[in-house]
Amino acid sequence: MENSKKMRTWLDEMNLTHPLVIAGPCSAETEEQVLKIAHSLKDTDVNYYRAGIWKPRTRPGNFEGVGALGLKWLQKVQKETGMKTATEVANRAHVELALEHDVDLLWIGARSTVSPFIIQEIADALKGTDKIVLVKNPVNPDLALWLGAIERLYAADIKNLGVIHRGFSTFEKTKYRNIPEWQMAIELQSKYPDLPIINDPSHITGKRDMIFDVAQTALDLNFDGLMIETHCDPDNAWSDAAQQVTPERLVEIMRDLKVRKESDPEEKYNKELSNLRAQIDIIDNQLLETLGKRMKLAEGIGALKSKHNVAVLQSSRWNEILGRMILEGETKGLSEEFVLRMFKAIHQESINHQEKVIKS
Ligand code: PEP
Ligand code: MN
Repeated sequence: MENSKKMRTWLDEMNLTHPLVIAGPCSAETEEQVLKIAHSLKDTDVNYYRAGIWKPRTRPGNFEGVGALGLKWLQKVQKETGMKTATEVANRAHVELALEHDVDLLWIGARSTVSPFIIQEIADALKGTDKIVLVKNPVNPDLALWLGAIERLYAADIKNLGVIHRGFSTFEKTKYRNIPEWQMAIELQSKYPDLPIINDPSHITGKRDMIFDVAQTALDLNFDGLMIETHCDPDNAWSDAAQQVTPERLVEIMRDLKVRKESDPEEKYNKELSNLRAQIDIIDNQLLETLGKRMKLAEGIGALKSKHNVAVLQSSRWNEILGRMILEGETKGLSEEFVLRMFKAIHQESINHQEKVIKS
């Protein structure tokens, strides 16, 4: 894949002709299962073979991983297939065992990234390592926690760093297991443009049917690679059964994904692009102008309500606006999800403006 990053990273050193692929089961279950999946991925584009050895389960009573024994199975994978291996580490003991057993790539799970104590412990245990270390986003959409983890690892002189975007949990039920919030990953990329970023469509979707689509979006957004959970008998996997794909399906996915160029020097393309971008810039300015006017009107309402001692929020009016805007939005090709989010944000800002007037 073309790479516009300025600093040469561990990923550039790999000289790949395709996005990086990390694949393998959610959990190592048995030696036979680990080796069977590894052998079926051996002659594919898979670069790292993943398997969870210690599984952070949200609720107790689920399969929590085979533990250190599984690291021996990963060593067998290296020996029998030549593939490099990857596993999740969540504390100092995990790090020490993984390093002792020559695991090539270590990732930090979403439930660990939320905890600065855990991250610091892992960073201290990894100090100065030249292993590849990937940091998953925290379970909650908090960019600062993700950045903080990266900073702690950099400070521990870990040179071969990268991140994994695996989506964020939400209170509301959505079609995703963890909503992608792509803008978070994009923001992280703009803060650390040289940090390789891998997408994990398995944990974002939670459903194998949706994986291709999310993976394609990631590549369209210039992600450097993918981590996809793969199992020979997905339905009977001991963890994350619904989201794992077979090795055959993984090969199809990798074959059908389109890797797009970052740009094209062709003059006509660049002219058309600047023209469209100029139009977008104009519209963005108009959007701000319009929103500013809307807030001025809200302030007028605030003043009026204040004079008559009326509450800021009138739920019935607000529900009526939302319902109408969703229908209107539909006729303009805007999704309900987007219209809802946008109007919730606008409404909040309006309330803030009204409050300011009322309190002044
Ligand atoms: C995993 O990769 O199997 C895993 C537990 O992921 P996450 O930390 O993203 O939930
Ligand atoms: Mn999993």
